[in-house]
Amino acid sequence: MNSIALGTKPAHALKTGAEFKASLDDGRQLWVNGRKLAKVTDEPALAAGIDLMASMFDDQFDPAFEEATTTLDPKTGLRVGRSWQVPQTAEDIKGRRAMMEYTSLKTVGTFGRPVDLGPTLAVGILAHLHMFNGFKSAFDGCQPDFAENVQRYVEEGRLNSITCAESLTGPQNDRSSPLAQAASLLRVKSVEKNGVRISGAKSVGSIAAQTNEIFFSNLGYPGTPAEACVWGAVPINSEGIKLVSREMLSNPGADPFDHPLTHKGEEADQLVIFDNVFVPKERIFNLGSEHGLAISGKATIFAHWHVLTRLKVKSEIFVGCAQMVTEILGTDTIPAVRSMLAEIIEYNRTLEAFVIAAEAGAFVNESGVMVPDVMMLTTGRLYAIRNYPHIIHVLQEMCGQGLVMRFGKAAFENPEIGHHLIELLPGKGVSGMHKERLMNFIWDLTCSSLAGRVALFENVNASPAPRMRERLVAEFDRSDLVAKARDAAGL
Ligand SMILES: Cc1cc2nc3c(=O)[nH]c(=O)nc-3n(C[C@H](O)[C@H](O)[C@H](O)COP(=O)(O)OP(=O)(O)OC[C@H]3O[C@@H](n4cnc5c(N)ncnc54)[C@H](O)[C@@H]3O)c2cc1C
Repeated sequence: MNSIALGTKPAHALKTGAEFKASLDDGRQLWVNGRKLAKVTDEPALAAGIDLMASMFDDQFDPAFEEATTTLDPKTGLRVGRSWQVPQTAEDIKGRRAMMEYTSLKTVGTFGRPVDLGPTLAVGILAHLHMFNGFKSAFDGCQPDFAENVQRYVEEGRLNSITCAESLTGPQNDRSSPLAQAASLLRVKSVEKNGVRISGAKSVGSIAAQTNEIFFSNLGYPGTPAEACVWGAVPINSEGIKLVSREMLSNPGADPFDHPLTHKGEEADQLVIFDNVFVPKERIFNLGSEHGLAISGKATIFAHWHVLTRLKVKSEIFVGCAQMVTEILGTDTIPAVRSMLAEIIEYNRTLEAFVIAAEAGAFVNESGVMVPDVMMLTTGRLYAIRNYPHIIHVLQEMCGQGLVMRFGKAAFENPEIGHHLIELLPGKGVSGMHKERLMNFIWDLTCSSLAGRVALFENVNASPAPRMRERLVAEFDRSDLVAKARDAAGL
């Protein structure tokens, strides 16, 4: 139990931001630019990102955010974070959506893996326990109870506010060579009574360096060998885990005027190397079942709902920015500009419609978990990522030169040139500085190095468009539609 009291409210199992930060100082093995860090917070961009995550923990104690970020644990009655909530009712769906909107807004969508994303994988597996019938470890020496383990892990995560990364994808190498992929394929190397040892690698493990644990799996491809059909979760500081980070892309320490968004740091992506890592028996959710691995597509249902919701929240920011740009530049009555604004509004309204439709189609499945309509999620995500680059381009176009001709706070405050900037650059009814701050924000959001990473992330993080299209064709039941067309055609 934590030290922050909630007055007369029920006891809680929440973590404070400071407790979350302290939990990351655990001897994890992390390299940035080839340099080994003693602590993850030694890298300013990671530290700033961690501060942002910590503020989400502190917000749980703020009455303004309590409803969106916390709920009551069904078993203990303790107040817990929503990240590990298992939706069972329409009310729960509403609650989790509020949490997703909260974390998306908090990071302005720059974190694809905020505190409530990683847990969605374990919750997604829990939602498909009815498909676990007959699952058994392929290794005689280690026989975990998968269903019991998943249930315990979700409960443990909820009561201990565990943050976790999730990584399903393998490192990029020669896709035509099974041999090249075999070297990196995460697989069981040896079996012990109380667990297994695994080696290989996972990529990309977004936010892995800034969380407590990693949830790992391999994407299920036909022919995956039994030793690579493995799901599990281990602490990031487990012996044998090495995190190799990509370069940092944000501007920690910058003046918030100059970089309203990127001064807040980032979620970074890591290659996660497993070198003979021990996975305790109780943290194994599949061991050797190819059929089990095939469920991973279904287990991502809540992650994909999160992705779509985040994109919807981001589209709201895009509309807000576009509207302000037209007002500040005095372009709001020009038909061509209004038409550009309309495109961004159309994007936002469409994403909102997909989120609403996916939730309206939610149903309680055989495991007693309420899951959104997966086809609406997939179609919505496909629409969102196909149009994302165009919408970014339209917003940039609406900004004109302002997105490039930004001079910084120090220039505005410089006694020799500042008065010129103030005189030369005012917007409609606002000062030049006011106008520049908006442009600085839109720069961070759409043009900065971090924005580049985020755009690439949006495009592939939850499977690229070709795979989503394949999923639509493979999974969308068209029999009713064929019957309608047949009737209409008189066939
Ligand atoms: C910034 C970033 C963060 C990410 N974070 C995570 C994370 O946290 N967790 C996680 O699990 N993954 C994460 N991903 C990885 C993401 O899941 C993969 O990038 C994605 O699955 C595509 O795989 P790949 O990059 O290995 O593509 P590759 O296999 O290298 O293929 C390159 C391209 O070829 C095409 N292609 C290849 N094979 C096929 C196929 N069979 N069908 C159709 N098209 C194909 C696709 O267009 C694909 O993008 C992240 C990616 C990025 C860029």
